[in-house]
Amino acid sequence: MCFCGNTQAFEQCCKPFIKGQSTPHQSEQLMRSRYSAYCTKECEYILNTYASKTRSEHTVEDILMFAQQVKFVHLDVIETDQDDQYQYVEFKASYLEGVQLSVLHERSRFVKENGAWLYLDGVLYPEESKKVSRNDPCPCLSGKKFKKCHG
Ligand SMILES: [Zn+2]
Ligand SMILES: [Zn+2]
Repeated sequence: MCFCGNTQAFEQCCKPFIKGQSTPHQSEQLMRSRYSAYCTKECEYILNTYASKTRSEHTVEDILMFAQQVKFVHLDVIETDQDDQYQYVEFKASYLEGVQLSVLHERSRFVKENGAWLYLDGVLYPEESKKVSRNDPCPCLSGKKFKKCHG
């Protein structure tokens, strides 16, 4: 299973995008590969897949700091949508900071530049974070207890 939750292995799913061997045809694929890039700390890829308009607001260092601080454990793609100019992907990405579980719930907007989908910006929806107890089911949905999995 890939980090992004697809049943394919990472090597066949998100890795070819991250390594520049292929280009996502849909923004959902790009979104998933950016999520997997956070999981594997491929920060250059995350930076390079920002749209040219927003790329300068970010640095590899900032991205790396966030990627090291959190551990993404689960991705839910809720809805995809498009209009004449943009594609949209609404998702929930669950991540741990120690035993604190937070959910990044965002509707991202993607734009095509030179034939490639890039992340432009997004609208965030507030989500409560909560503490995970040792005996709770792991938030990665492995079916194991937290203490035996990501705890
Ligand atoms: Zn994937
Ligand atoms: Zn787990």
